[in-house]
This record gives sequence, structure tokens and C-alpha cells, in this order.
Amino acid sequence: MAKGSILVVEDNPINLKLIKVLLTVEGYEVFISTNAEEALDMLSKIHPQLILMDIQLPSMNGLELTKKLKADSKYQKIPIIAITAYAMKNDEQKVLEAGCDGYIAKPIDVTKFSQTIEDYLKDVVDQS
Ligand code: MN
Repeated sequence: MAKGSILVVEDNPINLKLIKVLLTVEGYEVFISTNAEEALDMLSKIHPQLILMDIQLPSMNGLELTKKLKADSKYQKIPIIAITAYAMKNDEQKVLEAGCDGYIAKPIDVTKFSQTIEDYLKDVVDQS
């Protein structure tokens, strides 16, 4: 049985491939969208336990999409973890203000990635 389902919203094919491999190896069911519109379409069909959200996306960016999801009662309980190249303190705040529940810095540290995901999912279970 899958450990849980995760929607990855990321437009960079290299990052996407890396994230998909890391999550699949850990036993997660992985869904992929490469832009905000695809993500919204996907979310009308699936209910993931976690969303990994790239911030720089074509057209609607990850922060706008996060705000939209967090304003919608259908989606607001799904934790959203930003995947961001932003390293500045202000940017971290921007990500959290948009409604993200946490963030992972790019480039992705493969040795920490799966533990980080597990920790976020554990928090979700603990709260429910
Ligand atoms: Mn991007």
C-alpha cells in the first residue's frame, strides 16, 4: 500500500524527475502537474495528503496558487510545502504568508528530502 499521495507542482523537468524518483522510492503515490492550471484540474480528481509547490511557475505562480487553494474550503486543509530557490529571510516570510505550511530549499538536499517529507506528513496525521 502506498504511504500517502503527494501532488508535485513543478515546471522544471530535472527537479520534477528528481522529486518523483525520491518520493516513489519511499513508497509515495506521486501525481504531477507542471503548471497551476494543471494542478487545479488534478485537484478536482484527487485529494493528496500533501502538495509540493514550486514557486516559479509559468502564468499563475506557486504563491498565487497557494493563496487560491488556502482560500477554498475544499483544499485548505491540504498542507502545502513550497519548493523554493528563495533563500532570503523575507522570501521565506512571503512563502509562509501566502499560506504555505513549510518550505524546502532548492537545490534539493537528497539526503534530507525524504525525512523532511515524512516529518510534514507526520504533523498532518498528528493534527487529525
Ligand atoms: Mn519553476
